[in-house]
Amino acid sequence: MERPVPTNYAMSHLGHEVCHRWTAYVSAKVDGKIISLGPWPHWGPGLQAPVAFHYSLPTEASTMGGSVWQDNFDGTYTQLRDFYYVPATGYSYLDLYLMGLISAAEVPDFFMLNNLVAVGKDANGHRIFKADRTKVTIQDVIAVEGPRLPDVDHSQREFNTGIVVVVEHGRSPSPELIERANGIRYQWIDYWETTTGHRASMTVNHVERLQTSEITVITRQSAVDILPVQPW
Ligand SMILES: [Zn+2]
Repeated sequence: MERPVPTNYAMSHLGHEVCHRWTAYVSAKVDGKIISLGPWPHWGPGLQAPVAFHYSLPTEASTMGGSVWQDNFDGTYTQLRDFYYVPATGYSYLDLYLMGLISAAEVPDFFMLNNLVAVGKDANGHRIFKADRTKVTIQDVIAVEGPRLPDVDHSQREFNTGIVVVVEHGRSPSPELIERANGIRYQWIDYWETTTGHRASMTVNHVERLQTSEITVITRQSAVDILPVQPW
């Protein structure tokens, strides 16, 4: 299915920022040593982080960082996809485990590449690196962080997002702005359900108009009106 382009950038940001509720904060313990999976709060480029349920392209790295690496079995690794999250990408198995949407048994073993040294490019322009590979399993993550609680059988599956449209004081939102907000709203539901493999649902409520006193609390100096996004 082809995704509408105009909202893809919004999906990149929404997908990424919402996932910060859960990731990317964990480490792993390998051979008794705690290893970093990236600079907080994102996965490092060396992390093997293929997306479980892709959104824009057949091969994607997690929207929270990491890469999709091809092990060339000669000490080099080809970076099939980097951590740039435009066009919008989905969530890795590790992300989905930390989100409470898949079990530990569903997370394939992965790895972390350190000491990356660029050595060239393949015929398709993908960069090739020499690196040190450390195998990581979900049990290595659990060894540091403990198991995900609540577990996959008791985790939250229904989510709701509020969209707030902000316009200058005394102005009304243009029909185009409302239409854009609704476009984002529609695609966000699709993005979420697609990238979570339909293991979680998303609703997006239209926003109630706030009272002036509440608006003052939010903005302090600049006066704005917060207006409802019309339902479809
Ligand atoms: Zn971030």
